[in-house]
Amino acid sequence: MRPLVWLRADLRVADNPALHHACAAASRGCIAVFVITPEQWREHHWSDVKVDLILRTLGELSGELDKINVPLLVRTAGRFRDVPQLLLDLARKHECDELHFCHEYEVNESRRDETVTGIFEDAGLRVRGWHDQTIVPPGDLRTGSDGYYTVFTPFFRAWKKRLGRDGIPEALSRPKRQRDRACAPDEIPAAVDGFEFAGASPDLWPAGEREARRRLARFIDKRIRGYSTARDHPALDATSRLSPYLTVGAISIGQCLRAAVEANGNSLGRKTGAATWISELAWREFYRHFLVGFPRVCMDRPFKLKTEKIQWRDDDKGFDAWREGRTGVPIVDAAMRQLDETGWMHNRLRMVTAMFLTKDLFIDWRRGERYFMQRLIDGDLASNNGGWQWSASTGADAAPWFRVFNPYRQSERFDADGEFIRTWVSELSKVEGDDVHDPPPLLREQLGYPIAIVDHAEAARRAIAAFKTLT
Ligand code: FAD
Repeated sequence: MRPLVWLRADLRVADNPALHHACAAASRGCIAVFVITPEQWREHHWSDVKVDLILRTLGELSGELDKINVPLLVRTAGRFRDVPQLLLDLARKHECDELHFCHEYEVNESRRDETVTGIFEDAGLRVRGWHDQTIVPPGDLRTGSDGYYTVFTPFFRAWKKRLGRDGIPEALSRPKRQRDRACAPDEIPAAVDGFEFAGASPDLWPAGEREARRRLARFIDKRIRGYSTARDHPALDATSRLSPYLTVGAISIGQCLRAAVEANGNSLGRKTGAATWISELAWREFYRHFLVGFPRVCMDRPFKLKTEKIQWRDDDKGFDAWREGRTGVPIVDAAMRQLDETGWMHNRLRMVTAMFLTKDLFIDWRRGERYFMQRLIDGDLASNNGGWQWSASTGADAAPWFRVFNPYRQSERFDADGEFIRTWVSELSKVEGDDVHDPPPLLREQLGYPIAIVDHAEAARRAIAAFKTLT
């Protein structure tokens, strides 16, 4: 029997259930394939840096697969609808009798997988789907009334209870080395049509599962203990920066969770840095479960349907100022410039910038969500949508609409000595003391730094009044 493994957001050899089970089942050398779908990726607003990371990860992966005698084929189809026939043709050409993949839960992705499954089964070929993106498969945790959780805390409690009962899934052993090699691997393309590769990302984000494991080990060794207190301070390098690797699947959520639990004395609980980090992994899981329970969030719709009535402002000038980091609110501008240069933004600042766009500028969260996807190296529908709908108060367990972040207070609290602002806003790099959080008008003029495009207190009142009409 020859299996075909279709790799997607699971670009690793270690702890990859689809690859593991395919290699174990194979009596003739298993083949792996990755399908590039440029038109679909553009429609899903994937960023240049994310596509670049995928290509570089494929390069590393091909080398790792080579060690177990599995060739990696890389094919291009314009859109998802072109994928089923392409895969079936490939399976027939190489006489594969079984297809393995790890589930993706977004609406378009799961519809594509249903079509692929149908066409394979009609052709008499078996299809095996595996869960690797979550520890507990979506749908397996239900509320008392048999629904999906819409609030994080009870979800987290149920998740921990489940892991306490069933244990944390063990790491899979290394996939069995294949005795024969079915065909030669493909060259990994250097570029994908419509995506341009510029910027510092290759140095900032080295690709591959070895790099991901190195980052995890360093984080566990050096930072996890102080995570609860340091994680909210963007000037500190205090978080794992594993999100790009989790997004492309260069590391599994299981690998992260097991390492954190071990660092936490084999416990999921306790008031430690490791326990806080585990809760962040659970937030990722929560948003994935949620997206399966409420697929409308994949289709530009809010979770709280009554918020569809909100008349967001049309403000292209405001949007451009936000996007380009020239709103005149230093912490917002610093964050947007960090995103532009590195493809990544600190979590606290994702909340601050998203809240600023949706509440201070009162611009539709969907515009911000889309822009983040177009810029982030870790762009991920479930977490990005979850974060945006949290900030806009339209989502599950969202920020209450009457509590609008004051970006200047956030700045004083989480970038107290202004180090982050000085690093990213060159105009303010020499401003001393607290002025850096909100420079006086004359100083702004001297430094060529804009006056704030919006008065926070007035804007917050406007947003609160608009939400109040919905109650
Ligand atoms: P760490 O603090 O080290 O956390 C470890 C891992 O836990 C992260 O890599 C991530 O996978 C997960 N995680 C942490 N916080 C969250 C969270 N709040 N929600 C969901 N998962 C979390 N994360 C993405 O991976 N992709 C996105 O596109 C994305 N967009 C976001 C948009 C907004 C508006 C907001 C508020 C948050 C978004 N997040 C997104 C969540 C979070 O900001 C990032 O996961 C985190 O900043 C990544 O940095 P890290 O790897 O150092 O995280």
